[in-house]
Amino acid sequence: MSNSYHIETKCIQSGWKPSKGEPRVLPIYQSTTFKYDNSDQMGRLFDLEDAGYFYTRLQNPTNDAVAAKIAELEGGIAAMLTSSGQAANYFAVFNICEAGDHIVASNSLYGGTFNLLGITLQKQGIACTFVDPDASVEELSKAFRPNTKAVLAETISNPSLVVLDIEKFAALAHAHGVPLIVDNTFATPVNCRPFEWGADIVTHSTTKYMDGHAMSVGGCIVDSGNFDWMAHADKFPGLTQPDESYHGIVYAEKFGRLAFIQKATAQLMRDLGSIQSPMNAFLLNVGLETLHLRVPRHCSNALAVAEYLEGHEKVAWVNYAGLKSNRYYELACKYMPNGTCGVVSFGLKGGRDVSVAFMDRLKLAAIVTHVADSRTCVLHPASHTHRQMTDEQLKESGIAPDLIRFSVGTEHIDDIIADLEQALQSV
Ligand SMILES: *Cc1c(COP(=O)(O)O)cnc(C)c1O
Repeated sequence: MSNSYHIETKCIQSGWKPSKGEPRVLPIYQSTTFKYDNSDQMGRLFDLEDAGYFYTRLQNPTNDAVAAKIAELEGGIAAMLTSSGQAANYFAVFNICEAGDHIVASNSLYGGTFNLLGITLQKQGIACTFVDPDASVEELSKAFRPNTKAVLAETISNPSLVVLDIEKFAALAHAHGVPLIVDNTFATPVNCRPFEWGADIVTHSTTKYMDGHAMSVGGCIVDSGNFDWMAHADKFPGLTQPDESYHGIVYAEKFGRLAFIQKATAQLMRDLGSIQSPMNAFLLNVGLETLHLRVPRHCSNALAVAEYLEGHEKVAWVNYAGLKSNRYYELACKYMPNGTCGVVSFGLKGGRDVSVAFMDRLKLAAIVTHVADSRTCVLHPASHTHRQMTDEQLKESGIAPDLIRFSVGTEHIDDIIADLEQALQSV
């Protein structure tokens, strides 16, 4: 696909490329397995000598078409779909880290990622140092150790809405010889393409704006192909030393710039099996076709909501990087000149209890454990997604106890604001 196409065209046309007589629309390859004519053909696939499908736990044509579309949207060279955003972040880290290694991560992260890095990976022997993303390069450099293998952060953090200085983080990671992994879920490639600012690996919870309709849980990992594993061969033996489980293949030698996704597929998917179902990949693809239409609408609605809330006497504070008063406004203008995301967070005067009472009064905006779909929804992280965190951890992650996460949908803006108005009046 021509890389000169605009993102709108890529949302629709990238990925599935039917040849003569094939379905115009991406088919759902609802098949666990694939047929070959003789034993040797199949053997070559297992040796990674030929590319091809053999078992859907590793790869499936529907998934690969959708992954190829997301790779083009991000400007990467290869991608893979995973069963969830959690699996995407886990695989992105575990593909280059093993027991005894260490990573550096922003402390402003999605709650699930915070637990994954801080607790579950710790149990697997991979340590994590959480850093304040706004700290100086000097301060941030102190977090690195000789065994540090990656840096991870979110373009716009969920739910604290911190905008990452991607160039600063990329320079920091590269100065220490490790890749920068950016979770680009909230910005989407329509608003920000982290590879253009130096990130090496991008992850997504496709569950959010990409699917866009709250239909299917999924994730994606995209590789820019830019990180030179061989230049730091001692740090990344998984990519630069023979893989005994694949007859001694050296991924970085055999697959060059495609090594990262090849290894994640051949090794991690094989052994850990977190593939997205082809049905979900099909639904994700339908969502992607309208991503470029929905995201600007989410953003314009969210800005209107943020401005409305900012002017309301019962509102204590509003956090939305699109507001000129926001501390991340300038970073947002640099990295996301067309808009940030559809999520606004705020707190009400009177604190936590008033915030919760207000949420219960909303009629159009539903209380759901979800974010970033076409229906306006709302959540109180301290009572819901981040319930497991202590007050201290909440504070460190930039999540105030009264924080309301308001995910602005694509309905008519007047109806969304009228709902806010009636609920605010009643508390
Ligand atoms: C939701 C989310 C995840 C986790 O994704 P799931 O698809 O729910 O597993 C990871 N990162 C961010 C930024 C998210 O918003």
